Amino acid sequence: MNILFMGPPGAGKGTQAERIVEQFGIPHISTGDAFRLAMKQGTPLGQKAKEYVDQGLLVPDEVTNGIVRDRLAAEDCANGFLLDGFPRTIAQAEALDGMLAEMGRKIDHVINLKVDRGFLLARLTGRRICKSCGSTYHVIFNPPKQEGICDKDGGELYQRSDDTEEKVGTRLDEYTSKTAPLLTYYGDKGSLREVDGEKDIDAVTTDIASLLRG
Ligand SMILES: [Zn+2]
Repeated sequence: MNILFMGPPGAGKGTQAERIVEQFGIPHISTGDAFRLAMKQGTPLGQKAKEYVDQGLLVPDEVTNGIVRDRLAAEDCANGFLLDGFPRTIAQAEALDGMLAEMGRKIDHVINLKVDRGFLLARLTGRRICKSCGSTYHVIFNPPKQEGICDKDGGELYQRSDDTEEKVGTRLDEYTSKTAPLLTYYGDKGSLREVDGEKDIDAVTTDIASLLRG
C-alpha cells in the first residue's frame, strides 16, 4: 500500500505516521531522511544535492525528484511506503505520479489530517520549555505543577520565539496556501481521505487504519 501523509504543523502527523508504518509494516519515507541517506551513500544524486546544500542553495526539483525515486525503488518499499513531506508542489506531485507509473505503481491513499486553525494555534503557542533541562510542557495539555516552573529541577520555563501566535499564524498560513492546490489535485483524482485530527491520538490512529483497510 502506497500512502501519502499530509497535515499542517502541529497536527500530529509524525506521531501518526510512526504508528501507521508499524501497523502496516511499511517504511516511513521523509524527504529529509531520503536526502541524508543519499548524501551518506554518496549516490550521484546525493553528491549533486550536497553541492547545492553546501552552497546554501535550494535543491532543484530534478534532483529532489530523483532522490525520492531512488528511495521508493529500494527493496524495503516493495510492499508499500508512507511518504511524508513530499510532494510540496503540483509539479512534484505530477513527477511523483510519473515515476510511480514507470514502476507500475500509484499512490493508493492520500491521508489529510484535518485540524482547525484555532486548535493548532492553541496547541503550538502553549508549548513551554525549561531553560535548564530542556523539558517541554504545555500550558493546557501538559502543564507543570507550578506555573512557569519546571517540575524536575525548578528551572524557568520559556516560550520559543517560533511559538508565538504571530509566528505560528504565519507558518499555518504558508502551509495552507502551499498545500491547497495539492488537496485539490488529489481530491480530483479521488485518492484524498480526510481524517479528523482533533480526536485523541489513539482514535486518530484507529480512524486512519480503518480508512486504509477500507
Ligand atoms: Zn527543567
